[in-house]
Amino acid sequence: MRGLQILRCGAWLFANLMAFSIGIMAQSGREARRPNIIFILSDDHAYQAISAYGSKLAQTPNIDRIAREGALFTRAMVANSICGPSRATLLTGKYSHKNGYTLNERRFDTRQPVFPSLLQQNGYQTAWIGKWHLGALPVGFDYFRILNGQGQYYNPDLIGAKDTTRIEGYVTNIITGLTEDWLNARDTSKPFFLVVGEKATHREWLPDIQDLGAYDDRDFPLPATFHDSYAGRLAAENQDMTIDKTMVLKTDLKVHADYEKNGIFNRFTPEQKKPFYDYYENRISREFDTRKDTGANLVRWKYERYLKDYLATAKSLDRNIGELLDYLDKNGLTNNTVVIYASDQGFYMGEHGWFDKRFIYEESLRTPFVMRYPGVIKPGTKVSSITVNIDWAPTILDMAGVKAPADIQGVSFLPLVEGRKVAWRKAMYYHYYEFPQPHHVYPHFGIRTGRYMLVRFYGPSDSWELFDLQKDPEEVKNVYGEAGYQQTVVTLKTQLKQLMRQYDDTEAEKILEAKP
Ligand code: CA
Repeated sequence: MRGLQILRCGAWLFANLMAFSIGIMAQSGREARRPNIIFILSDDHAYQAISAYGSKLAQTPNIDRIAREGALFTRAMVANSICGPSRATLLTGKYSHKNGYTLNERRFDTRQPVFPSLLQQNGYQTAWIGKWHLGALPVGFDYFRILNGQGQYYNPDLIGAKDTTRIEGYVTNIITGLTEDWLNARDTSKPFFLVVGEKATHREWLPDIQDLGAYDDRDFPLPATFHDSYAGRLAAENQDMTIDKTMVLKTDLKVHADYEKNGIFNRFTPEQKKPFYDYYENRISREFDTRKDTGANLVRWKYERYLKDYLATAKSLDRNIGELLDYLDKNGLTNNTVVIYASDQGFYMGEHGWFDKRFIYEESLRTPFVMRYPGVIKPGTKVSSITVNIDWAPTILDMAGVKAPADIQGVSFLPLVEGRKVAWRKAMYYHYYEFPQPHHVYPHFGIRTGRYMLVRFYGPSDSWELFDLQKDPEEVKNVYGEAGYQQTVVTLKTQLKQLMRQYDDTEAEKILEAKP
């Protein structure tokens, strides 16, 4: 009996020792892993245009491949839905009010800590290639070759540490070429962190010549909210970002574009200009002249042209992502390289009659985010927890085995994809600032939970909106002040204030306290 007990006890000890050593092995395995990390960050690419997210508009087989072989995030959100601020949040893991980059076209303060410097200190080599758009030159990167400001689709100027050069060709192909050059020349004794900053799919949507007309045989259905009346939503009513009134025929849709004076077109070489001119002038502009559309027909035509150009730039983007994935395969890097694909924020593909972003509403609050991490993320993983772009920096640090500084506001979501049970946020905080130009969207802050979105617009107009996403996923019915929602409003306002305190947004809290 006693012998059996000793035997049992021994078996128990053995099992536990094994579990303990496996734990250590897993731990040290993770530390020793130090994967390469490639973050492909595009610009204004809507999840509605990605087939992994169920889009019927276009096929994106290579982005889908990352999702299929890794994880698809269905509630990836951003703290402030515009270009520069999203990149500043990536670098700092902080909200705009903390990193100081609240609006576009400013100069990012590079004296503040950025997480790639920590990767450098921990033996990573770091590089940023492509769109940067933060005014100041990159800090925290061993190598950079960045687009000048917004950058150009054709023959772009690229700024390096030593010089600025114009490279002939189409921007997305050039960025892939520079990326492969850097990968070929890197120090293979060290892991790397590389940001591929894509210009696509930013306005004014100039496709690669091979993709001109790629979607011309398609008729795209209008989104259900295309003819939104904006009833009960003052800020939505007063924006300046509709396909109808704001989208410009000449520049955005290249109808009788000014080929001699416009800065976009006068960068072309004669060889590039010819097919472009043939397509937009001889075909599209002629079609426009022949149709003589007005009113609703004209808006519909603009919508079709917008989608065709936008999706054509996305086609090149996806193809180039495929080329990078192939490069990793061919060079034996796939198994030890994390690949992330995200956009800097979401975008409107005609929902509410809009293009552009900015609003806390679904299409611009959410951004595509897919991540492949062989051996760690089970293929086909879906993450529906609310993640925010403040989490991107600490997640990357976590993957590299580097401790995140205490003042980083985001949290690593690696446990979510590893299938570990962790306490996770049930609500996210949002704050948008840029007003009045370029799209006249009132500044606002708000809270988004699984079911509700409560937002407060301030500045020239002061108003609250509440949406019950379970009943109204398209966010057309503002139920703020309606019977049955009073208690929800009280609860959400309390949560909103808590989030403001958590993220130390004192300016927002003052506005919240000062007015009804
Ligand atoms: Ca953007």
